[in-house]
Amino acid sequence: MPDALNAEMDRPDVVIIGSGVGGSSVALKLAKAGARVLMLERGPQLPNEPELSDAEAVFVQNRYRTTDEWLDESGRRFRPGQFYYLGGHTKFYGTAMFRFRESDFAELRHEDGVSPAWPLRYEDLAPFYEQAEALFGVRGQAHVDLTEPPRGAYPHPPVPHEPVIARMAERLARQGLTPFPMPTAIDFGPGGLCRRCGTCDAFVCRYGAKGDAETRLISQLRTLPNVAIQTETEVMRLIADSDGGRIVAAEVRRGGETRRIESPMFVLSAGAINSALILLRSASERWPDGLANRSGVVGRNLMVHHLTGLMGLLPFQPNATRFPKTLSVNDFYYGVPGDPLARGNIQMLGKIQGPMIRAAYPSLPRPIADWLGRHSIDWLIMSEDLPDPQNRVRLTADGEVEVRYKGADAAAHDRFVRYARGLLRKIGFPIVLRHAFGVTGPSHQCGTVRMGTDPATSALDPWCRTHDHPNLHVVDAGFFPSSAALNPALTVAAQALRVGEHLSHTFA
Ligand SMILES: Cc1cc2nc3c(=O)[nH]c(=O)nc-3n(C[C@H](O)[C@H](O)[C@H](O)COP(=O)(O)OP(=O)(O)OC[C@H]3O[C@@H](n4cnc5c(N)ncnc54)[C@H](O)[C@@H]3O)c2cc1C
Repeated sequence: MPDALNAEMDRPDVVIIGSGVGGSSVALKLAKAGARVLMLERGPQLPNEPELSDAEAVFVQNRYRTTDEWLDESGRRFRPGQFYYLGGHTKFYGTAMFRFRESDFAELRHEDGVSPAWPLRYEDLAPFYEQAEALFGVRGQAHVDLTEPPRGAYPHPPVPHEPVIARMAERLARQGLTPFPMPTAIDFGPGGLCRRCGTCDAFVCRYGAKGDAETRLISQLRTLPNVAIQTETEVMRLIADSDGGRIVAAEVRRGGETRRIESPMFVLSAGAINSALILLRSASERWPDGLANRSGVVGRNLMVHHLTGLMGLLPFQPNATRFPKTLSVNDFYYGVPGDPLARGNIQMLGKIQGPMIRAAYPSLPRPIADWLGRHSIDWLIMSEDLPDPQNRVRLTADGEVEVRYKGADAAAHDRFVRYARGLLRKIGFPIVLRHAFGVTGPSHQCGTVRMGTDPATSALDPWCRTHDHPNLHVVDAGFFPSSAALNPALTVAAQALRVGEHLSHTFA
């Protein structure tokens, strides 16, 4: 069987930049249509080593986090929570695979502004959501979640709750709510690879059980004779032809050398922040503000969700749950009682451990952090944030990366969190601790290369093709016009599959 990893390829039909969920999904469609696909990935393939599931190595030593530094708006340097490996951020993701709601594709008024409509509707993505769920092996139960869009059955039954989580579901139901099994991409059940090892969300699965871009898509790509995947190959910029319209080459750095890779078609999928940076870094005399940026939106409208963790503490009862991410609540997707603007999704977080708490609060003594880790049940409260042009990633005059972000609608999220905290007290937690996830770990980054129908206000058309360059598409979460209040990965996959199918006709 051929192995496409680090094979050479002359004259590819399409160059795909980034091997995350967006890049791998489009690659699979195009490769299956017969295109010669060259995928370029900045990072290496992750080795299967014990540290992958060691919280001390992952969170305290930051073994897998990039060593790059970015600047915040006050000029302070930080090491962002970015992970550059084959398979992209899905290697570390928490496996929650939600479809966005029908209303997420329409305009929606928020306290601090308007969440804009998408240039496509739920019905346009529905068949590709179905394909994406099948590809990633998503488990779930249809027709329980109150806000669920029209859909058929999930490819696989849900991962059953462990006892503590089942108790949470019962208590929430007694409050008149409708908890439902969270859709998750895990190979769990008879014959499945999941061992409920206790490290999943924010860790890499050592057993190949996580439905990520590598286990589910790249594993297929590697066997195809018309695919080559080059790791440790960083795309620095794209080069447009002298007329300025078509992209003719990518300038890449590999093994200390810089070279050009030419192709008739390019698909950029380096992650929302890095794709914007590549376009900005590609500025030339003809395109002084960067490629695909006549509108000036590239790098702007960065969204990362309002994410707050709540640790419900059970002082007299250790929590032995290994895979808690089986429960979610959407009763408040359109507001809490009496406050329709305080809204979003509630879902379980992966099991928090002592080293994770120490990494966030280094002065906390180890025994206290470990005790908290043993006694907490961990929830994630997620609200939509709004696309604000002032929230942006850009290059400074010295070529450094600067990220400015001030989440709009923060007060409404705060009211939602306070409501959720009250709810957790009602279901039996005497103490509920609160912690925020900031922009330094932009796990749900999106919106920086937004799509739309108007070239004056968007960089991409509804097929993710740049308005300015007919042979350049962008299919990572950068294309989102709005963030919804649900995890992004399945929507990235669905749109990338849709774009891939559309482009496949070129190779038919
Ligand atoms: C800890 C964590 C938990 C998460 N949990 C969930 C969850 O449960 N559910 C969910 O839906 N989402 C979750 N997410 C978010 C989800 O992982 C991302 O939304 C999704 O993976 C984004 O996919 P992408 O293809 O847009 O980009 P990425 O996954 O970022 O892929 C981009 C790829 O491009 C590569 N690259 C970057 N720059 C260059 C360059 N210059 N040249 C070449 N290659 C480059 C990167 O190394 C990477 O492989 C989580 C994220 C994290 C970090």
